[in-house]
Amino acid sequence: MFNNKNKALTFSYDDGVYQDARLAEIFNRYGLKCTFNLNSALFDPKNNWTYRKAHCAHMREDELKKALAGHEIAVHGAKHLNLAELSAEEAKNELSEDKKSLERMWNTQMQGMAYAYGAYNEEVKNIVKECGLRFARTVRPTHSFEPQTDLLEFHPTCHHNDEKLFELAEKFLSLSSDTPAIFYVWGHSYEFDGDDNWERIEKFCRMMAGKDDIFYGTNSEVLLG
Ligand SMILES: [Zn+2]
Repeated sequence: MFNNKNKALTFSYDDGVYQDARLAEIFNRYGLKCTFNLNSALFDPKNNWTYRKAHCAHMREDELKKALAGHEIAVHGAKHLNLAELSAEEAKNELSEDKKSLERMWNTQMQGMAYAYGAYNEEVKNIVKECGLRFARTVRPTHSFEPQTDLLEFHPTCHHNDEKLFELAEKFLSLSSDTPAIFYVWGHSYEFDGDDNWERIEKFCRMMAGKDDIFYGTNSEVLLG
């Protein structure tokens, strides 16, 4: 139950790139909330790469604060390392350093994270818990709205490029308001530039926004209640 509503919509976007500013502006226009998963040791546009001809670069701290105001900030590993390939000590540092830095910068407690590269295992899950994080998102689509019990391995409903996105949206809108249901969408905002499909998220947000029976919240508002 979210604010007396059974249905909830939430978003999760990774890496803190410049395209996040455009995405946050779309969410703001529709009254939707997102959790942005950030790598605090990489806050510099010198850290850049190319995705299908789209230029991708990390925003600076001040730019992130301004662009993402009103949304949730979460952990994504200080340096975007693959946690499943690190020693336990290295994995712990990668997460706890990111958590500590983000908490200092945003002056608020970090509640959750998204696994960089979607990589994790049982040992990594234990480290996430030890670090005091209460949810961790994978990249495995469920195509389902069912609440989940293992939040340290939380599977999203789907990626924004999923061919079932709009089918799922229709289904979610027509669901009765009697049962708890979560629609959780994830992705990277630079993909909209690379795939030249910003209209896709615009269309999805337009469809889902402004419904009386849907709660629009960040990941922690929706998952932790
Ligand atoms: Zn990432």
